[in-house]
Amino acid sequence: MALLEVEHLKVRYPVRSGWFRRCRYLHAVNDVSFQLERGETLGLVGESGCGKSSLGRALVRLEEPAAGAIRLDGCDWSTLKGRELRRFRRRAQMIFQDPYGSLNPRLTIGAALDEVLALHSKTGREERRERAARLLERVGLGADALERWPHQFSGGQRQRIGIARALATSPEFIVADEPVSALDVSVQAAIVNLLEDIQREDGTAFLFIAHDLAVVEHISHRIMVMYLGRAVELAESSTLIAHPLHPYTAALISAVPAVDAAGRRRIVLPGDVPSPLAPPPGCPFHPRCSRARECCRTKLPELTEVAPGHFCACHFAGETGT
Ligand code: SF4
Repeated sequence: MALLEVEHLKVRYPVRSGWFRRCRYLHAVNDVSFQLERGETLGLVGESGCGKSSLGRALVRLEEPAAGAIRLDGCDWSTLKGRELRRFRRRAQMIFQDPYGSLNPRLTIGAALDEVLALHSKTGREERRERAARLLERVGLGADALERWPHQFSGGQRQRIGIARALATSPEFIVADEPVSALDVSVQAAIVNLLEDIQREDGTAFLFIAHDLAVVEHISHRIMVMYLGRAVELAESSTLIAHPLHPYTAALISAVPAVDAAGRRRIVLPGDVPSPLAPPPGCPFHPRCSRARECCRTKLPELTEVAPGHFCACHFAGETGT
């Protein structure tokens, strides 16, 4: 059984506008299904606003799903509440893009870690302090960091503290939401290496959200591409990069020469991403797709397995190998 099974997940936000403050819904995540194995890293890519972060936040219940199931070891935790939810929370944690924003500036690092440890364990203060020191050492910081304040650390060090905090509950699954986007390139590599070490040692599964395809390709076993709240392609990293089947994936890859070793011509997509408040009918990508045909305007393509382990949501995926 897969560690995580996500089925038909939907996340939506109410938006009130117009004279009568009519309520409409922005469908940030629309009918997304996938599985994640133990010790696997699934990269999640797509333009900003495509629903990557909403999906990640829903998986750790920082957003309430509007519909669908999120099963961890077979147990649907999308509807759990109270003590049961807290028990499950230990197993799924999140690392944020801006660790400074997620650290309380009025708490020392020791106090911030103790907050999490006290919430999820029954151990005494001294034992928790020793555990906090070990967590900091594990992420490459000395125990002296316990007495220091968030503003005394660099961006990379703060991300290490964010990782230590996520590890405090020994999670089996971590959502890393753009964890290196705000860091210098040299620091990015160190943080990616640290996450890989953690996975090797603990068997942790990661959903790694990023817009930098080069980083995602490096760290991920498989990659899922999202467009307007929907998963449009999912495959092993090397397969997806070498043989993208969805025209949107092909365009994303062609824009990153470092990733596109085949040196394909850059595909420039016409127009902008449509508003998720009013997604186009049929295939949501059809207004920008050079391969669109008549049926694309009316019929929504399902994410379908077109080759072993390679899923694509395009009516003509079998014909569109690039
Ligand atoms: Fe393009 Fe049609 Fe495929 Fe959508 S279904 S990606 S519009 S060819």
